Amino acid sequence: MSETDGRTLGQRDAAHHLHPFTDNRELAAAGGATVIERGEGCYLWDDQGHRYLDALAGLWCVNVGYGRRELADVAAEQMQRLAYYNTFFNTTTGPTAELAETLAELMPGHLNTALFANSGSEVCDSAIRLARYYWQQKGKPQKRIVIGREEGYHGSTLAALSAGGIGAMHAQGGTGLPDFAHIEAPYRFLLGHDMPEAAFAAQAARALESKIEELGAENVALFICEPIQGAGGLIFPPEGYLAEVQNICQRHDVLFVLDEVISAFGRLGAWSAAELFGLSPDFMTLAKGLSSGYQPISALMVSDPIAEVLRDAEGGLAHGFTYSGHPVAAAVALENLAILKREKLVERVREEIGPYFCETLKRLETRPLVGEVRGLGLLGAVELIQDKAAHRLFDPPGVVAAVCRENLKARGIIVRAVRDTLLIAPPFVVTREQVDDIVDTLEAALEDISRELG
Ligand code: PLP
Repeated sequence: MSETDGRTLGQRDAAHHLHPFTDNRELAAAGGATVIERGEGCYLWDDQGHRYLDALAGLWCVNVGYGRRELADVAAEQMQRLAYYNTFFNTTTGPTAELAETLAELMPGHLNTALFANSGSEVCDSAIRLARYYWQQKGKPQKRIVIGREEGYHGSTLAALSAGGIGAMHAQGGTGLPDFAHIEAPYRFLLGHDMPEAAFAAQAARALESKIEELGAENVALFICEPIQGAGGLIFPPEGYLAEVQNICQRHDVLFVLDEVISAFGRLGAWSAAELFGLSPDFMTLAKGLSSGYQPISALMVSDPIAEVLRDAEGGLAHGFTYSGHPVAAAVALENLAILKREKLVERVREEIGPYFCETLKRLETRPLVGEVRGLGLLGAVELIQDKAAHRLFDPPGVVAAVCRENLKARGIIVRAVRDTLLIAPPFVVTREQVDDIVDTLEAALEDISRELG
């Protein structure tokens, strides 16, 4: 552990570093952040020597696990050969060209063209801008409005956060962008627990149609949604919902943007949620699992008819980032995809560890504090509730799950808490024993909380 002037690294960090999605005052008062030093497989170690089982795979991205030598080697080799070149003005690099081709093969039929960036936010922003440009080229420049969902998360850049529906983000300088609208999330646990699933799915999808009719389809550019809302609390779509919102978009000539930043590359046991749910989006956003977080890289997959229009942009497409298609990030992404294939990790999530994880987690549903357990592949949510029989939620919300998360951290397990939902998404290399460890520890933490609540 490094100390300078008697201060720990965490304290020095808190003095000069504004942390994202963190109460920075509280962090400083608590003596600074936990300093994570090392990772191997599903485990992390901090600078005090504590070990954590990372049941969130970083921020749901380190899908192949930590400490992969192959990825470090590929990055070092590519850096030595060609550390950087851009993809503007008629140039490309080998890894970039190969990655675009590989993504076209992996993603459903008509998504054959990639636009590269560095983060999920940038590709969500890009989808919005390019969709509006597409409509402009189609002679319908008034089609500009973006419809997103409450509790949707598409990133922190202005257009992405405007499309998202996270209240705290809108409250902090994010409001005011014109031409953004939102509909209710299909959050059955909160909004339709007493309704049959099919009726709730129809009602939630109808909200989109009503919103399009209210705004006028001639003014709406696109609808953007995550297949499973992640940062909003792992809100799973009721059966039939996604197909129906896609139908509604098609009926009203509204582009359908599927934000697969979390869901793609195996998290759900398929290469994409589009493939799993039989969807054909006009745009698909990819990031996180593309490189398993080893390099910042993202891709916007564009469907053929839209790509044709964008290719024809007069004077060239006026859009891009210095690091679009960065050769080192692209080389790492290619090797990451090769690892997923070589080790059959997507199949492992679909057929073996995913079902085991979901079944084991489901065991918690018998506990009094647990209102619902949701799971698919290696995505799991545990919904905590004050009074299960009366379906009464905790008031105020967001306290109990945060206490539970800290209890788990003290016991060496990292999860995320949103409102009173615990979110779990371990790396694909998680073993059955590690799944047992996560669920047993969760059970022990819930025991503690039951006792504290009396
Ligand atoms: N879209 C979804 C579904 C996400 O979960 C995230 C990040 O968590 C983003 C977009 C934004 O990605 P980034 O943080 O890389 O900008």
